Amino acid sequence: MTHEIDSALIDGRFVQAGGTETFVITDSNTGETMSQCHAVSVEQVDEAVKAAHKAFGPWSNTPVETRSAHLRAIAEGMRARRDEIAEAVAKEVGMPLKLAGRIQVDQSITVLDDAAQEAESRAFTSQLANSLILHQPVGVVGAITPWNYPLYQTLLKVAPAMAVGATVVLKPSEVAPMSTQILAEVIEASDLPAGVVNIFYGAGPTIGEALAGHPLVDMVSLTGSARAGRRVMELAAGRFAKVALELGGKSASVVLDDADLDLAVAATVGSCLLNSGQTCSALTRLIVPAKWSDEVAEKVIAAMAKTTLGPSTDSTSRMGPLVSAAQQSRVRGFIQGAIDDGAELLCGGLDLPEGLPAGGHYVAATAFHKVRPESTLAQEEVFGPVLTILTYESVEEAISLANGTQYGLAGAVFGADEERALSVAKRVRAGQVDINGARFNPAAPFGGMKQSGLGRERGPLGLDEFLEIQSIQR
Ligand code: NAD
Repeated sequence: MTHEIDSALIDGRFVQAGGTETFVITDSNTGETMSQCHAVSVEQVDEAVKAAHKAFGPWSNTPVETRSAHLRAIAEGMRARRDEIAEAVAKEVGMPLKLAGRIQVDQSITVLDDAAQEAESRAFTSQLANSLILHQPVGVVGAITPWNYPLYQTLLKVAPAMAVGATVVLKPSEVAPMSTQILAEVIEASDLPAGVVNIFYGAGPTIGEALAGHPLVDMVSLTGSARAGRRVMELAAGRFAKVALELGGKSASVVLDDADLDLAVAATVGSCLLNSGQTCSALTRLIVPAKWSDEVAEKVIAAMAKTTLGPSTDSTSRMGPLVSAAQQSRVRGFIQGAIDDGAELLCGGLDLPEGLPAGGHYVAATAFHKVRPESTLAQEEVFGPVLTILTYESVEEAISLANGTQYGLAGAVFGADEERALSVAKRVRAGQVDINGARFNPAAPFGGMKQSGLGRERGPLGLDEFLEIQSIQR
């Protein structure tokens, strides 16, 4: 068993976590217990917020170059522990090790360097006639993050907040805490002033709510489920604290009738199965012309067959297990529900290939055809490797299907006529839309419309989230 997480980083040093709750951390490949994580007490939440409040004045007045140097030092400290972090995330979350190293670790650490660079290169003041316009740090940020990209989601908040001069109290997910605990260790070992970043664990309804509801927290930034987002907003409303929410998705891939179908299927299946479907922006609905229905089905089956399912630590695995037994059972429930609803199962389903370790949280790559657009499978976020194929007769119908859920996080459009694809992309009500499998741009603002959230993260615009505007007239 890896060492237990029984401490919290509060006011610059590790203290014993004083709460009563304990969370078991399982190896998703086998279901075996790897470690345990202890929650803090509500009193310790208060101590951490007070430490961040006290640190805010000096930190916000620290020159931006110095703040950026601290961010870069933390990035270096994390890089030195890269392989350890990759292994932890691969085991906790289930992403194949090599991919976890690239996506869950390297891309996450880059967020620190990018935020340092962006803060140094932006003007925090401007002049408008007789007004001096100041972009001031928001104050104490309460950050609450999920388990699916545990380090990445965390750094998307911590790095820009720190870079602009805000201070942070972070409650990462209690389900996959090992990478964020390494972040805490790196920060504690660095010479970052005490209280600038505080990190602890606890359950959402107790410790998460104590943080979101704390009167000295100026802004709450949450990535997670709609349920948690709604509760955080209610708690923040009492004092009109700023709120940023990155929530779920049910993103659509709209394939126009002049599209390269192979490209569209490969990109959509790849996105749907990334991290075993545990990705908020996953393309989980493939919307195709009705006349291509059978051809698409064949291509999806072939693409999914190439995705070898196995332990995340095996170099031959293209897809690993899900994070937990609870998540596995939830996803299996969606699959059974779709079967009961009369959808046509193309591949995957409830059966598993032979030879997988017993107790692991595996679900096979699954695709359903002939799904009713208003059914649970077509409407709800599954957060597992399950693709829904929907067909359309007209482009208007395709757009209406794409927009026909409560979510609006991401989307994709495929078509040879780029102008037509662009005009369709503009009508998809989602924060990020990719045309013809365009490459990921880490500097592009990321976030949702409709019930996928409020606000944007990443890139230069991601810094704005943590700034308040002040006008001074002279
Ligand atoms: P979750 O909502 O259960 O938990 C997320 C975090 O919120 C955890 O730290 C949890 O302890 C905390 N939390 C839960 N209830 C809370 C409450 N009442 N008050 C305060 N905090 C609370 O979500 P999860 O299962 O960890 O993550 C999966 C969800 O996150 C999915 O819906 C996924 O789409 C979403 N997500 C969104 C993005 C994005 O960028 N939009 C990215 C990753 C994940």
